Amino acid sequence: MGHDAAASDVEKLVIIGSGPAGWTCAIYAARANLKPLVYEGMPSQQLLPGGQLMFTTEVENYPGFPHGIQGPEMMAKFREQAERFGTRIVTDDIVEVDLSKRPFTLKSSEGVVIKAQAVVLATGAKANWLNLPNEQRLAQNGGGVSACAVCDGALPVFRDQHLAVVGGGDTAMEEASYLTKFASMVHVIHRRGEFRASKAMATRILESPRAKVHWWSAVVDVIGKDFIEAIVLEDTRDKKRTTLPVKGLFVAIGHTPLTGFLGGQIETDDKGYVKVQDPWRTTTNVEGVFVAGDVADSTYRQAVTAAGMGCKAALDAERWLASKGIH
Ligand code: FAD
Ligand code: NAP
Repeated sequence: MGHDAAASDVEKLVIIGSGPAGWTCAIYAARANLKPLVYEGMPSQQLLPGGQLMFTTEVENYPGFPHGIQGPEMMAKFREQAERFGTRIVTDDIVEVDLSKRPFTLKSSEGVVIKAQAVVLATGAKANWLNLPNEQRLAQNGGGVSACAVCDGALPVFRDQHLAVVGGGDTAMEEASYLTKFASMVHVIHRRGEFRASKAMATRILESPRAKVHWWSAVVDVIGKDFIEAIVLEDTRDKKRTTLPVKGLFVAIGHTPLTGFLGGQIETDDKGYVKVQDPWRTTTNVEGVFVAGDVADSTYRQAVTAAGMGCKAALDAERWLASKGIH
């Protein structure tokens, strides 16, 4: 759907992003009669309207679905619920913003200019992948390759199997540690001879009888037609290759929050995550611009926490608009 409002109209609230944070924000804002406009993003190979859950199969830990639900189906329900209360939706990216004066100016990739009194940033974060062709193919087809052990690790296919985690930071340690509860062995693959992770987190893995660290190792290929069977490791020093049979690969090499389109106008931490001005709120350094979900969260990164923050952003935006006499 295109944005057919006259360019001179000033929107009360524009929500950028369409994962659990964006849709929950839209549901609350629409019910508060703010008539929110959601820019849900443009489909591409690495990003889909609906967010990260569009790339997964079963979501088992979102409350309300005792038997689990497919990620894309869940996001379709979020979207439908937002639409039911009058949310307007545009399938396009916001590519540029001017937040220096109110109303704010946003520009879409199709060149539409939108004026907004308040904006919620809910663009999420993109898991970093190794970008190997077979890794991508299996990740997209439920073939045992994932970027989220907490989300997928408890699935029956991974129980009592040899699994691999790639990465040497806290996320990799956390994911590996989580997987030791289900796997018969967790192989941690790291490209250097020491972990980046904190001592406490690293120790858990180094001392676990169910974890084995492969130092100086890079994953250079993933083997398996419909489901992963093995990974090919390359010694990062002498380039010697070996094959390691595994029934699951969890890539934990960091995330990239999607803030590029903000052109540095919103304060971020040193990893690029939007900084909230008050830990319990969703306010940013620009009055009238609020944030929700993974784009502001390097710690929890769960659908339910993103949705919760989306709710908070809608309430914060509504109260702020009311305080300005706009709503
Ligand atoms: P996202 O879901 O990242 O959505 C943001 C969306 O906004 C993007 O996809 C894009 O469509 C849109 N967007 C981005 N930039 C722009 C722009 N410039 N203009 C317009 N639109 C834009 N969590 C769980 O709780 N349970 C699980 O089982 C689970 N499984 C997962 C499986 C996988 C494979 C992955 C990668 C993650 C999983 N997670 C899971 C984590 C969960 O998906 C995220 O925490 C959650 O989706 C974050 O929601 P969000 O709304 O902040 O952003
Ligand atoms: P990170 O600290 O950036 O670590 C990423 C890891 O992946 C590094 O070990 C890095 O290797 C490796 N890596 C990066 N690109 C790679 C590639 N292309 N191929 C192979 N390996 C690659 O990211 P993170 O672990 O996601 O943590 C992000 C932040 O969240 C950190 O500040 C972390 O402390 C925090 N966090 C905290 C907790 C907790 O306290 N409970 C849990 C999770 C995350 P090198 O080491 O060689 O660079």
